[in-house]
Amino acid sequence: MKEKFRRFMSGRYGFDQLSNALITVSIIFILLSAGLQSSVLNTLGFVVLFFSYFRVFSRNIYKRYAENQKFLNYWNPIKGKFYSLKNRMKQSKTHKFYKCPNCNKRVRVPKGKGKIRITCPECKTKFEARS
Ligand SMILES: [Zn+2]
Repeated sequence: MKEKFRRFMSGRYGFDQLSNALITVSIIFILLSAGLQSSVLNTLGFVVLFFSYFRVFSRNIYKRYAENQKFLNYWNPIKGKFYSLKNRMKQSKTHKFYKCPNCNKRVRVPKGKGKIRITCPECKTKFEARS
């Protein structure tokens, strides 16, 4: 069975970040459509699902790869912002974050040290803050 699948998939594009995202979106659409009794959302969900599988089984590897790169160009900055926000929230118990008044670079300092002088690691500007 596994061997059969491998042979079937040879020369085909396979999964990438874009198809994973599309499958996630289609599942959300289909679940929402059930909750909202919306046939439009349901159809949309299956169209997206169909398109994502079309990409997985596609033999036009170059084109699918280009699509994925385009998607990542949009997605990576969003993902990066999300991760840095999550990271800051995780560290908010032990650290405080300040923006450098000169270059806007975010600076992390340990919490509970009182009034401190911060030197920006980017532009070396010094500024005071209460941590
Ligand atoms: Zn700075």
